[in-house]
Amino acid sequence: MNLIVFGAPGAGKGTQSAYLIETYRIPAIATGDMLRAQRRAGTALGDQVKGYMDRGELVPDSLMVDITKDRLQQSDARDGFILDGFPRTVAQAEALDAMLDQLRRRIDAVIYLRVSRQVLIDRLSHRYSCRTCDAVYNFRPDQARALPRCTVDGGELYQRPDDHPEIVARRIDVFLKHTAPLIDYYTAQHKLENIDGQMSVAEVRADITRRLAGIRKGAGSR
Ligand SMILES: [Zn+2]
Repeated sequence: MNLIVFGAPGAGKGTQSAYLIETYRIPAIATGDMLRAQRRAGTALGDQVKGYMDRGELVPDSLMVDITKDRLQQSDARDGFILDGFPRTVAQAEALDAMLDQLRRRIDAVIYLRVSRQVLIDRLSHRYSCRTCDAVYNFRPDQARALPRCTVDGGELYQRPDDHPEIVARRIDVFLKHTAPLIDYYTAQHKLENIDGQMSVAEVRADITRRLAGIRKGAGSR
């Protein structure tokens, strides 16, 4: 199963990806992790990444595609993968498709977690993280006045700077502007699974499971 999971910040990508990793025994491949791994490994690709990052520039699409290609050829991704955070634009999606063609692979399904702008802002604005273990909690404003400690390790809870309401609204708008065109791109390929991400975590999970089961069944007859 070769999957892309996408949705705005706060749409529930992390939660649902964790479930897919367990269920299908395939790795989730996050852009940030790939870039850090290449840098650490000190490969030729890693040196290029370092150059762009040190200059404060964005890593160009062609380099992102090379790094993703490298990652998809590692043994744990042989039976499938979940891409998280890439592609972000239609140009990147086109480059990804061309690269997968070279590997004689393809994307089976694109899971889009659809959540309204207002719900995203509400969710992220009420999000608190543990300083020690990064566990995430949600509290309403009245609950947030007296924050408890982290239930995992007793760490202090705080609101990450990029979860403050003004920043949250900007992150969501950037997503909607640049990433939303991907919905049309993958709809045209009949790969988009447009999922109501405002249901409960369990309901979203059940919907994803049902749809992916349908895709697996259909795969044999293609
Ligand atoms: Zn903690």
